[in-house]
Amino acid sequence: MRIGIFGGTFDPPHAGHKKYADEVKGQLSLDRLIVIPTATPPHKQKQTGTSSEDRLNMLKLLFSDDGRVEVSDMEIVRGGRSYTFETVTLLRGQYPDDELIFMLGSDMLLSFHTWKNPDVILEKVKICAVTRDGDIDEAALGEYAEKHFPEQKDRFIICTFEPIELSSTEIREKIRNGESVDGLIDGQVMEYIKEKELYL
Ligand code: ATP
Repeated sequence: MRIGIFGGTFDPPHAGHKKYADEVKGQLSLDRLIVIPTATPPHKQKQTGTSSEDRLNMLKLLFSDDGRVEVSDMEIVRGGRSYTFETVTLLRGQYPDDELIFMLGSDMLLSFHTWKNPDVILEKVKICAVTRDGDIDEAALGEYAEKHFPEQKDRFIICTFEPIELSSTEIREKIRNGESVDGLIDGQVMEYIKEKELYL
C-alpha cells in the first residue's frame, strides 16, 4: 500500500484541508491517507477554547464519507510535543512493508534539515513537498536534497496544486464576528461547532 501522512492543528478543519487531502490522494495515487492532528498544550487550548478531542471529532466528521482517510489520535494520545521522527518511527512499526509518504508544506521544506533526526525521518518515510502555486519546483527540490541529503535525495518528491485561500484563523475570526462560513467548512463540522459553541 501507498500511504500518505498529513499532520496539522486543524482548529477547525476546513475546505482547504479537504482539498489538500483530495489532491494528494489523487496525484500520489494513495491507497490511504492518515490524518494526524497534533496534540496542543493546555495553554494553547485555552486560547482557542478547542480541546484536542473536539479537533479529532471535527476531522472525523469531515472525512466520514471517505473510506481512504483514517484520522489518527496517535499524537493526541501521546500528548505534549510530538517530534516527527517519533511519529514516523511508530507508523513504520505499524506498516513495516508499505510505502509511507510524509506530506510537508513547501514553506517548511527548506528548514527540514534543522528538524530533530531528519536522517531517521528519511529512513522511515519519503517526504513530499506540497507546494502552493509551484513556489518550489523539481529543480529547487533537487538542489535542496542534493545539498543536505545527497545519500537520500531520492526520498524527496513533489506535489503541486492551487490551494483555496483559507486558514483556520480566518474561520475562527468569521465565526466570532457572526459572519457566514458557508462553503468554507463542511456542514457536519459547522453543526458540531454550533452545538459545542466553539470559537465564540
Ligand atoms: P491556522 O490558521 O490556525 O494556522 P491553518 O489553516 O494553516 O491553521 P493547519 O492546521 O496549520 O491549518 O494546517 C495543516 C496543514 O494544512 C498544513 O500543512 C497547511 O499547509 C495545510 N493547509 C492549511 N490551509 C490550507 C489551504 N487553504 N489549502 C491547502 N492547504 C492548507
